Amino acid sequence: MVLTFPHLGNSALAAKSVFDGLGIDYILPPISSRTSLEIGSYYAPEEICLPFKIMLGSFIQSIENGADTILIPGSCGPCRYGEYCELHMKILKKLGYNVDIIVLDLPKDIGVKELLNRINKISSNSPKSNKEKIEALIAGYKVIKLIDRIEQKAKIKSGYEINKGECKKLFNECKKECVLTKKPDEMIYTLERYNNMLDMVTLNKTIKPLKVAIIGEIYTLLEPFSNLYIEDKLMDYGVSSKRFLYPSWWVKDAALSIVNLNSLDIRKASKKYLSYYIGGFGRECVGEAVLAKKQGFHGAIQILPMGCMPEIVSKSILPTISKDENFPIMTLVVDEMTGEGGYETRIEAFLDLLERRKDNVLHGC
Ligand code: SF4
Repeated sequence: MVLTFPHLGNSALAAKSVFDGLGIDYILPPISSRTSLEIGSYYAPEEICLPFKIMLGSFIQSIENGADTILIPGSCGPCRYGEYCELHMKILKKLGYNVDIIVLDLPKDIGVKELLNRINKISSNSPKSNKEKIEALIAGYKVIKLIDRIEQKAKIKSGYEINKGECKKLFNECKKECVLTKKPDEMIYTLERYNNMLDMVTLNKTIKPLKVAIIGEIYTLLEPFSNLYIEDKLMDYGVSSKRFLYPSWWVKDAALSIVNLNSLDIRKASKKYLSYYIGGFGRECVGEAVLAKKQGFHGAIQILPMGCMPEIVSKSILPTISKDENFPIMTLVVDEMTGEGGYETRIEAFLDLLERRKDNVLHGC
């Protein structure tokens, strides 16, 4: 068995750490790129959402590199994600690739027994003892928590840094070094080193940077290529940004969903506008917009892939929140046709608006 998995932001590094620890062969998926998107768009149904196309392209690239089994975190719907696995499987078979797909669905959807069966299908290929397997999982969890913390810190601190670009550079170097590690301990050591370096970055606490929350569909938030590197652009502009959804948040949310105690703060915040689950992360997007205002952000940007059903619902609710809370929210829709020039212009215009509002508040206008 040679495993591969979708490139989902930092989670690819955690998966690498787990499989290194388990001693299972794997192909690290290529960083999502125009090539993955072009391959995926060529074979995918035209109207399917962007994450499907990028994932399909990247699966084909990994299979060409030697992978024969795909591991994918599942969802039984109700949005299109519930169809992803079946559709991926059909397309890959039609293209003549003989691959197995293992879907890690939530226990509430497939039951704990079935989930354990699927996990066993992977772990039975590991030559490690049960104790070592548990250690590999714990190390993977540590990795995801650390890398997410580093990313969050870098994105907030970049608004205050004295040496422009320092936080972004450290975060990018950190990811590059992690990819080169061979053992989970090595990766954890690397992450701790970069975490300390980020703590040492010199800041100018007198600056009052713009603070922007990034909300929306989870894949396009986690995978920088799919959102045209919006957070990198904000770092370049000296804006502090925050995103609520990270892979470590998703792991915790999935675990707590078994006892219905997941994302209580977000659910509470969204209750007035959207009180039930509509699939994807539509409810979370609404709650995050409300929380962002409460947490003192100057505005929020929603990112959604063209045709994303849950995010279209939240998009229709966001103007009401914006009006009720006097909080600017902009929506950016992405697909394979999105042009970088127009995208950047919209971001810059939104930041100008936020800057002017901030100045007016400071001067009491
Ligand atoms: S949340 Fe939206 S983009 Fe993601 S799979 Fe569902 S419909 Fe597609």
